[in-house]
Amino acid sequence: MKLHEYQAKEIFLKSGLPVPNGQLVTTAEQATRAAQIIKGAPWVIKAQVHAGGRGKAGGVKLAHYPYEVVTETEALLGNPLVTKQTGPEGVIVNQVLIEEGIEIDREYYLSMVIDRSTANPTMIFSTAGGMDIEEVAAKTPEVIFKEHVDPVAGWMPHHARNLLYCSEPPPDQTTIAGLMAVMSNVYKLFMTLDCSLIEINPLVTTREGRAVALDAKVIIDSNAFFRQKELLELDDPREKDPLELMAEKYQLNYIRLDGNVGCMVNGAGLAMATMDVIKMAGAAPANFLDVGGGASEAMIEKGVEIILKDKRVKAILINIFGGILRCDILAKGLVAAAKKKGIGVPLIVRLEGTNVAEGREILEEAQLKFLVAKDMAEAAKLVAKQVSGAG
Ligand code: GDP
Ligand code: MN
Repeated sequence: MKLHEYQAKEIFLKSGLPVPNGQLVTTAEQATRAAQIIKGAPWVIKAQVHAGGRGKAGGVKLAHYPYEVVTETEALLGNPLVTKQTGPEGVIVNQVLIEEGIEIDREYYLSMVIDRSTANPTMIFSTAGGMDIEEVAAKTPEVIFKEHVDPVAGWMPHHARNLLYCSEPPPDQTTIAGLMAVMSNVYKLFMTLDCSLIEINPLVTTREGRAVALDAKVIIDSNAFFRQKELLELDDPREKDPLELMAEKYQLNYIRLDGNVGCMVNGAGLAMATMDVIKMAGAAPANFLDVGGGASEAMIEKGVEIILKDKRVKAILINIFGGILRCDILAKGLVAAAKKKGIGVPLIVRLEGTNVAEGREILEEAQLKFLVAKDMAEAAKLVAKQVSGAG
């Protein structure tokens, strides 16, 4: 689950990690008031959306006069923001963060993730802050530094020093103390909130030696919600794909992709393999809907409905390996979906496993129009043929 920048900064502030003074606003009146309360000029006006790359896309503005705080806020609110990470239709800005402008001396990049190859929490630090870190990693990997942390021993001051004394020239003593405190706080938060990512880009220092988090990106590992219940309140469903939300409600996993083949599968591994064979057959998946192990007839029916709500879908491939999910249950769900709303696109079915004969029989008896594939490769070929020429 992604947090908004303002939510992450509230958490930072509570744990003693310095952030600029700021206020969240949703109307022009609130913006007027915020400009009176918050120190400026300048002020920084920031669109609160779950997408990075806002700075380059016009989602972060500098205001030099109080009236500019208001006009810039009005320009953002209610309008779509298109960044490198949003897709061409962009995302609607519902909230804006107004902050005091900080005079930047140096900009750093700081993040914490789990390094899967070493299975350790890992801090990444770079002197090339404020920039697209993927680009920095590709062009100048020598300015990116990493520290693996043993979670049993925890964060140690030497981890911070290793990172900080790599930077050329190293910051002065006051600044180093500030940055070290930020680093140990990031580690603490990462562990206590069960994060999969904390990213501060840029983490800036001022001439007086203050270290301030100008940006904040936090992702909470959803597997930890059983012990992070209070964080669930920070979820903003407006930022999610409506079909993903609908799928979530029925315990289905739906992921939107760019093609035109709708996919229903069971299990993440089978989903990945199905995407691969569809691509190899020359088509492209529009989504995949993973119904998981124990799906019921009603869940299958809902799943078909969700896939069909996406008008880009020109054919559906059902690839099910019946284990815990029996093929007859799946067939009943498909028939129910067809009866209720109809399936207006070609349906290609590849069924294997428990009760496969019963499943096929149910589909045939219902006189559902569908193509049966004997294996995955054939299913992919059939579906590719159906969508070839479709937009
Ligand atoms: P992102 O583009 O979505 O990552 O948004 P950021 O929060 O990183 O903001 C983009 C850029 O705006 C930063 O890299 C800074 O250069 C600039 N910026 C943000 N806040 C301030 C501030 O308080 N003062 C100054 N001078 N620049 C800022
Ligand atoms: Mn940023």
